[in-house]
Amino acid sequence: MSCALCQSNSPLQNSHVIPEFFYTELYDKFHRFHTVPFDAAEPERFKQKGIYEKLLCKACEQKFSVWEKYAKEAFCQGIGIQIEPDGPLLKLSNLDYRKFRLFLLSLLWRMGVSSVHFFSLVNLGSRHEEILRLALLNEDPLEPLQYPCLMAVVHDNKLPPDWISQPMHMKSDGKHCYCVVINGMLFQFYVTSHSLPAIFADACISKKNEMRIVISEIQEIPFLAKYLAELGNGILSRR
Ligand SMILES: [Zn+2]
Repeated sequence: MSCALCQSNSPLQNSHVIPEFFYTELYDKFHRFHTVPFDAAEPERFKQKGIYEKLLCKACEQKFSVWEKYAKEAFCQGIGIQIEPDGPLLKLSNLDYRKFRLFLLSLLWRMGVSSVHFFSLVNLGSRHEEILRLALLNEDPLEPLQYPCLMAVVHDNKLPPDWISQPMHMKSDGKHCYCVVINGMLFQFYVTSHSLPAIFADACISKKNEMRIVISEIQEIPFLAKYLAELGNGILSRR
């Protein structure tokens, strides 16, 4: 088995598909919006902690760890970033476009190339997978609207803090996207060669180092409402 990123035959590390820090708390300022504690009867069924896979060589793993460290500091510790309300949204500024984009692209690519069943619904296709692989290998964050990621904090949620939803495929305005909720944060990645509505330029991280995050109710996120309903039915049917 060769490294999925550089394709060398160096020994592979046991890599996290979802970075470990995501299982820790999000930065307090995000948490202000979480007012309802999780009270599911069987929280274990939601946990998907620590999914490892032999995917990357040591050098590539270290490359990813730089971007992960940045995302951890910004989103879990609030280091360096500014957060302010912007109407119904949260505006984040003073981000590092390059590092945060590379982090997001690495997350999408890892879910796509993973052979772990949990990520089986993420099929990027060989063309997009290769574009992403080369971008990550060359540390190129690409343009803001290439593989953009919309983010939302799921507000008033009943989600446990260390919970990851199984990444799902969706079509939004006819465009393919992949959704995953990690620790109360929804990531919606668009994988399309077509142009996207102007709203994306405001919401997704820009070269001005700004982005906007939606504060959303679970019911407003169709994929999540459906997913939780199915999970609920599954739990009920086992009783
Ligand atoms: Zn490698």
